[in-house]
Amino acid sequence: MSTRPNTPPAPLIRRTPWPEGADRALGTPLQPSVVYVSDGPDHLDAQYDGDAGGYTYAREGHPNATVLAAKIDGLEGAVEGLIVGSGMAAVTAVMLGLCKAGDHVIGGTQLYGKSLKMLTQDLPRLGITTTLVDMADAANVAAAIRPETKLILAEVVANPTIRVSDIEGIAAVAAGAGVMFVIDNTFTTPRGFRALDHGADIVLHSVTKLLSGHADTTLGYVAAKNPEVRSKLDLASATFGLTPAPFDCWLAERGVYTFALRYDQAEQNAKVLADHLAGLSGVKRVLYPGRSDHPDADRVARLMPDRPGNMVSFEIEGGRAQASALVAAMSDVPFAPTLGDVATTLSHPCSSSHRGLSAQARADIGITEGFFRVSVGIETPEVLLESFSKGVAAIRG
Ligand SMILES: *Cc1c(COP(=O)(O)O)cnc(C)c1O
Repeated sequence: MSTRPNTPPAPLIRRTPWPEGADRALGTPLQPSVVYVSDGPDHLDAQYDGDAGGYTYAREGHPNATVLAAKIDGLEGAVEGLIVGSGMAAVTAVMLGLCKAGDHVIGGTQLYGKSLKMLTQDLPRLGITTTLVDMADAANVAAAIRPETKLILAEVVANPTIRVSDIEGIAAVAAGAGVMFVIDNTFTTPRGFRALDHGADIVLHSVTKLLSGHADTTLGYVAAKNPEVRSKLDLASATFGLTPAPFDCWLAERGVYTFALRYDQAEQNAKVLADHLAGLSGVKRVLYPGRSDHPDADRVARLMPDRPGNMVSFEIEGGRAQASALVAAMSDVPFAPTLGDVATTLSHPCSSSHRGLSAQARADIGITEGFFRVSVGIETPEVLLESFSKGVAAIRG
């Protein structure tokens, strides 16, 4: 006689209804479901034709992504932005969703490392040619434009040199040539700079950084002004599988509620820290958009008035030994190559983000062994200044 003692009864397998009233929770529910039940074929048709709303399959969209996107849309002044699985997924959605073999893309020489890799190695592999130019002068962009140029990718504040791109000039070149202007607004955030108000056709973010703000989610965001471009980005995300996880969206939404408070406090701390560092002996130079000695101070005043942000770079006297002494002496500030966490982090581009460049290429943009980048957090300013005083003092041995 054959028995199947381990087969559970049907009610255990079938879904138990969601309790009544649960939809009135104050907190945003987390919805990890991969699929959504439909009323029938006609309803599904209507959904896929765009005549009915709702969700079908999570790779094509889910409520936690929609809620988060709406929050960032509000900050950026965008419509129907898209959440994707990482900042790089946002760059991927733009490149693979909008370009084809034969097209040409212009990017900044100081873009985020993996964006640079995509432009120099991966797009060419797919038949998309690229040119990198120094974005501090729009004349460089104008000189690189070709009939087949499709888009320009720029960041407002370059990492880690903190140079500010000629956004107004580039926007004019892009508009004149009929080329899409894409801004990676990760460093500046919509609180510092609203890209779509400054001539960008597309804005994107690594939500991983300041927007989410707690170094516990990896996500991206991309929004376009033009609805046709938007639907191409949506389609690219669904096709190439750039979809974000609901839990990450849920966490990031939680982070975004306090984004404005965190950003303002971090920025205030950054101003104080930049001035403090500039006064320490052993510090050769400080790069911060909020200081009058910043090389692009006039541009900062026009593009991001009174919003210099939370990123500070500085250079100490000496080489690797002094840099290591500084890091060792301030172990209370995590030495970590990221940015935008609630607490301050310190990074050393020579051994992290820019290790792939030759020493000469690094020297050309002023990145020496003594060069550090700080992502300033929201701790009490006194605590912060003390850590850096201790670190800089240690380079004397
Ligand atoms: C971190 C970062 C990215 C990539 O974002 P991920 O979420 O790590 O994929 C892109 N651009 C800038 C400016 C960044 O700082």
